[in-house]
Amino acid sequence: MTIETEIHRKKRICVLGSTGSIGDSTLDVIGRHPERFSVFALSGHRRIDKLVTECLRFEPKYAVVSDDQAAHEVRKQLDANGTQTNVLVGTEALEWVACHDEVDVIVTGIVGAAGLKSTLAAVRAGHQILIANKEPLVMMGHTIVAEARRSGAVIIPLDSEHNAIYQCLPDTFEVGAGSTSGADLNSVRRILLTASGGPFRTLPIEDFPRITPAEAVRHPNWSMGRKISVDSATMMNKGLELIEACVLFGVSPDHVEVVIHPQSVIHSMVEYLDGSVVAQMGSADMRIPIAHGLGWPDRIESGAESLDFFDLARLDFERPDETRFPCLALARRAAEVAGISPIVLNAANEIAVDAFLEGRIGFLDIATTIERTLDTVRGGQYDCIEDVLNIDDISRRRSRQIVDTLIT
Ligand code: NAD
Ligand code: MG
Repeated sequence: MTIETEIHRKKRICVLGSTGSIGDSTLDVIGRHPERFSVFALSGHRRIDKLVTECLRFEPKYAVVSDDQAAHEVRKQLDANGTQTNVLVGTEALEWVACHDEVDVIVTGIVGAAGLKSTLAAVRAGHQILIANKEPLVMMGHTIVAEARRSGAVIIPLDSEHNAIYQCLPDTFEVGAGSTSGADLNSVRRILLTASGGPFRTLPIEDFPRITPAEAVRHPNWSMGRKISVDSATMMNKGLELIEACVLFGVSPDHVEVVIHPQSVIHSMVEYLDGSVVAQMGSADMRIPIAHGLGWPDRIESGAESLDFFDLARLDFERPDETRFPCLALARRAAEVAGISPIVLNAANEIAVDAFLEGRIGFLDIATTIERTLDTVRGGQYDCIEDVLNIDDISRRRSRQIVDTLIT
């Protein structure tokens, strides 16, 4: 190996949830830079054919699926194509690839609490970890950040708002170090978390009970998976992001202001003590934050279109309406109470969104389910991941009972 190739050794990437929307954007950026990146592992849950196609293109060392039947199917198709990829099964295999020595960077693109254990494993291993999967940060973000501090893991948020905030903070800021080293964030007056307002920002409120799953997943600006699209429609996504921001940047909820900005051109802002407001702008394309994280500390091509300021013409801003979007208020309440509340909030939301997508409850029942779950699974702190999983389980059971009472 020459000195030059040693210095420029390819970064070995593990993409958890590669068959989803974040996975698509990540593999698109990786595919643009074959000289920089190689794929170590991919994972998929249901869309097995898609996982096979990705394996044939990127030739990862490992592919992880959720059950034996899927593993059998993937192995059969890969063998038929003579690929060397090893197929592994289950949550433990996700954790195993996430903390493997040969990995340089993990991208977490699994949706929901299903990504919790692998996120924690990657952080404990001290890898560079690009976090899109926000639910683990909502559930036990303080532990994840503390583990990163201990292991030296570099966390870069991929959620477009948090990536924007990260880019607007001083270069010396590190997730986990910021709140303790102090100096960096003492100069920050507030964080302005932007929100598109989703597809129902201007819909008459009396039409909300008739909103269908197909309408709720049709986001005006972003193309995303079904769960986060519904979260954007209820604005729970912004609520989860409020908690995510508090955890990642070590601030309290009253330091984060949600600003509706329907054009999704500014992806969030940081206001400093002197009154300067630093914003990150760009087209609504997840390849931008993903390329930022993958290339970090360099800047690399993402494939996203340049912003055309002459086309833009104007940028609008509004205050969020919490009577229209009660999920945002519920999330703020959970952020303020902290402890186990965000775990309960997240679990109830996952159950309610599933029930809505399956056509079992109405759009407004999502907030009702979450509120009633928060009212009954109350208070307290968690000590370890077992506590978190236990509270998650209790909350899911309670939410399912509440959903049953709401089915008409
Ligand atoms: P998606 O539904 O498109 O993809 C989800 C991925 O997770 C798929 O690869 C799927 O196979 C895998 N998965 C689902 N359930 C699983 C399980 N039980 N076990 C293992 N794997 C499982 O979702 P997405 O839109 O890509 O979102 C992924 C995460 O990123 C979410 O947490 C979301 O909030 C966050 N995020 C997404 C976007 C976006 O633009 N899509 C933006 C910001 C943050
Ligand atoms: Mg976001």
